[in-house]
Order: sequence, then structure tokens, then C-alpha cells
Amino acid sequence: MSSKHYHYIITGAGCAGLSLLMRMMEDPFFFNKSILVIDQSAKQTNDRTWCFWEQRPGLFEPIVHHRWNTMQFHSTDFSSNLNLGHYQYKMIQGLDFYQYVLNKATQFSNIEFCYERVASIHSENNQAFVHLEKNVVSADFVFNSISFQPINLKKYQFLQHFTGWVIETDTASFNKSEAIFMDFRISQKNGTSFMYVLPVSEKKALIEYTLFTPTLLPKEAYENELKAYIGQQLQISSYTITHEEIGVIPMTNQPFELQKGRMINIGIEGGQAKGSSGFAFQFIQKRTAAIIKGLKHNQQQFASISMHQRKGQFYDSVLLNVLHHKKLNGNQIFSAIFKSNQPETVLRFLDNESSLLDDLKIMSSVPTHIFLPAAIQELLH
Ligand SMILES: Cc1cc2nc3c(=O)[nH]c(=O)nc-3n(C[C@H](O)[C@H](O)[C@H](O)COP(=O)(O)OP(=O)(O)OC[C@H]3O[C@@H](n4cnc5c(N)ncnc54)[C@H](O)[C@@H]3O)c2cc1C
Repeated sequence: MSSKHYHYIITGAGCAGLSLLMRMMEDPFFFNKSILVIDQSAKQTNDRTWCFWEQRPGLFEPIVHHRWNTMQFHSTDFSSNLNLGHYQYKMIQGLDFYQYVLNKATQFSNIEFCYERVASIHSENNQAFVHLEKNVVSADFVFNSISFQPINLKKYQFLQHFTGWVIETDTASFNKSEAIFMDFRISQKNGTSFMYVLPVSEKKALIEYTLFTPTLLPKEAYENELKAYIGQQLQISSYTITHEEIGVIPMTNQPFELQKGRMINIGIEGGQAKGSSGFAFQFIQKRTAAIIKGLKHNQQQFASISMHQRKGQFYDSVLLNVLHHKKLNGNQIFSAIFKSNQPETVLRFLDNESSLLDDLKIMSSVPTHIFLPAAIQELLH
């Protein structure tokens, strides 16, 4: 590939980059725009599984692998079956997602791919420049989801880290119409820790051990906890591990740089992982949809955030403050919230789409003497 100028370059062909590309392929406005997608990997492995909730069919409906209308929540002192009402909890497998978008892209002659490592990106004179090993390419806009900085642990910053196993059993061991959203009935010695269980058949489920803590654990610690949970809590003694996924993402109230000149950050790099939960898939969908709309209106600035987002970020900061100062742990907080609120209210809240009434309900369900001082501290920051 020679040095060339494009209308748009997408750096990072993961969830955010390919979500943006998919939206460009759905809209005739982009059919005559030159688009280059760059990633260091050809995206041929099933490296993650996304779960998210929504009320209507979304852009990726054809590749939803499984869905649930009810979920269980378990803490040490409270358990509940959550009827999701208008929502469905949906699962998409990483590889299905990559193949779906990349196959569609073969029909578009205006889209090119380049599988190389991006060294850096800079913006100058209404253009952005992507520096590859031996080449520099430029565009009117670069949409970037590559993180060039190692995760930087600042005040209140946690990591969400997890190891998940897909296990298969010989006998019926799961109810495929009910997922476990969070199960805190495991050791909390390392900090906020829970399991989630996503059964896709009576004999197959993804079980993921998730922690919100400042540091990672040795590999055996994740494996030991998974083994203990499968044996003791799920009462499954015989199974085969058919797949493993691992991951680390930041959970932070640190502001992310959304735009630098003609480089626009998207995905985790654009702050789309919710600080208090780590959910990112739907936030990525909202951001990429907003970018498409903006481009069609000749918008140049993509760094503004809505009042709802600002409010959500403030609530995330308060929760991270409470966790950081160890006033309560995640088990106690999520238990209090699920005990007193309808699942739909909680899901709206976690989506940053809650009404003032929803917010008041959620606020009144957590201990005011802990959350109010934390909220004041965060406001003063
Ligand atoms: C295992 C796992 C499970 C998750 N599950 C959920 C979930 O259930 N629900 C949810 O809402 N969120 C989930 N998340 C969080 C979030 O949705 C994902 O991390 C999501 O993939 C983030 O999208 P992204 O585009 O920002 O990053 P990525 O999808 O990681 O994409 C970044 C891309 O950049 C490429 N890249 C990196 N460096 C370079 C470089 N120097 N040069 C070229 N290319 C480069 C990578 O190859 C990659 O393709 C999960 C995360 C992980 C890790």
C-alpha cells in the first residue's frame, strides 16, 4: 500500500472500529467515500463474547447467538429472578461479529484493509496522519480505537479483569432460558468479585469470573475460583472446557480524550467502557451512531457529551469513590440496588438512560450516609 489520502481511516478493527464500519456500509452517504481500515490482527479468533441488553432488534441482530428474558442475581444475602420486561439480554460471539462485518465489507470497492501495526497518529491542518512501520497514510478523519498508553492506574481507577470458560457437560446441567447476571456468592478477598453464567444449551455455558480491583491475579487464581464455583455452586463435577477467554479493561472516572484535531477516539480509548460496570458494547453503538449522524451533517467536532452521559459519569465516579474507600463492596451495592428496584429501572440506570425518578429510586436504595459524602467529594473534585 502506497502513501495515500482517504476520506476516513479506521484504526483498530475491533468492536468500535467494525461497528463504525458496519454503520458506514449501511448508509449510502458513505458509498463514494474512500475508507481504510487498519488492524495488526486479521480478527480470526473468538477472543471475546459480548453481552448487552436492548429493547428492540439492533444492528447486529442477525448474529445474536443467544438471548434471555430472565436472569438471576445472587449476593451473599439476597437472590432474585430478574424479569427483564421489555429488555432482552443478548449474546454475540466475537468471531461471528468480526466475520459478519468483514464479509459484508468484501462487497464494497471503496473499503480497503491493511493488516499492520499502527505506531502513532497525529493531526495537522485538517488532516490526520497514521504512521505505520514503513508508511504514512492520511485522512480527513481518523477514527481510532487503539490505545497507545498502557493502562494507567490513577486515583479510584480499577481494572475489570476476567477469565471465562465455555464448558460442556454430558448431562443436562443448565437452564438455557435463564442467565446468571451476577453471582457474588464467591470469595471477596481480592475485592469486588462475581461470576456470571451464560447458558446457551442444557449442556453448554460460558462461565466468567470477573473482578473490579486495582491489580490482576495470577492465572491459577482465576482457574481455581472457576473450578470451585462450577463444582460447589453449580454442582457440576464432570465437564470439558472447550474455550477460554480472558480480558482486562479499565474502570475509571478518568476523562478520556475524545478528539485531537482530526483524530477521534472511539471504543475503550474513547471512554466508552462504563466506569462502574465495564459494559461497553451498547455505549460503542451509541457513539458510532452519533458519529455517522455528525459526518452526514458535516460536523467537525465529536467531543461533546450529553447531559445524560455527564450524569452517568458522575454516578460512576461516586460508585468508584465508595469502592475505592472500601466503604462498601460491589456485593453490598448491587445487592441493595437489585433488592429495591425493578430490573428495567436498573438496566436503564446502567445504560445512562434513567429518568430523574429512576435516579431517585436507585439513590434511595443505597445507604445515604455513605453515598452522600462520596457524592459531595466527587462534586467538589
Ligand atoms: C474478554 C472481554 C469480554 C468483554 N465482554 C463484554 C460484554 O459482555 N459486554 C460489554 O458491553 N463489554 C464487554 N467487554 C468490553 C468491551 O466491549 C470490549 O473490550 C470491546 O472489544 C472494546 O472495543 P474496542 O473497539 O474499544 O477495542 P477492541 O475490540 O479491543 O479493538 C481494538 C483493536 O485494535 C487493534 N490494535 C491494538 N493495537 C494496535 C496497533 N498498535 N496497531 C494496529 N491495531 C491495533 C486490536 O487488534 C483490536 O482489533 C469485554 C471485553 C473483553 C476483553
